[in-house]
Amino acid sequence: MNTPAGDTGPAGAGEAPATEAEGSCSCGAVRYRVGLPALWVAHCHCSMCRRAQGAAFVTWFGVAADRFASLGSTTHLRSHRSSPEATRRFCDQCGTPLFFESTRWPGEVHVTLASLDPAVAATLTPQAHVYWSDCVPWSAVHDDLPKKG
Ligand SMILES: [Zn+2]
Ligand SMILES: [Zn+2]
Repeated sequence: MNTPAGDTGPAGAGEAPATEAEGSCSCGAVRYRVGLPALWVAHCHCSMCRRAQGAAFVTWFGVAADRFASLGSTTHLRSHRSSPEATRRFCDQCGTPLFFESTRWPGEVHVTLASLDPAVAATLTPQAHVYWSDCVPWSAVHDDLPKKG
């Protein structure tokens, strides 16, 4: 389409935000698509995320379950019931943690931001730290986001 300059809005307006994006585990055996915008983006400092993912904290984003789809085969997607109400899913080939679902957040899928298409992930801005009371001393966090939980 050949649109004259200036017809698409204020000068300097960026590209429209993505309305969907794809992601995958590190080996590519598990792939997914999500609808955007995300419901929320947050850094989780809970002890279960820390242990399951081998990181001081984990950055998650939430999507409505009906805006989440697996792409291709789910043969390598494994589940771990990490608490009576929660299930964590990961790739059985490379171990990448991918998804979290819980009866505490019905109708939502929580997805690791690190598994999302990096160009899109860069446009999703975390809004808070959660389970902040579980934050470990070796987790270097220097920002002004709200710290809850
Ligand atoms: Zn994998
Ligand atoms: Zn957590």
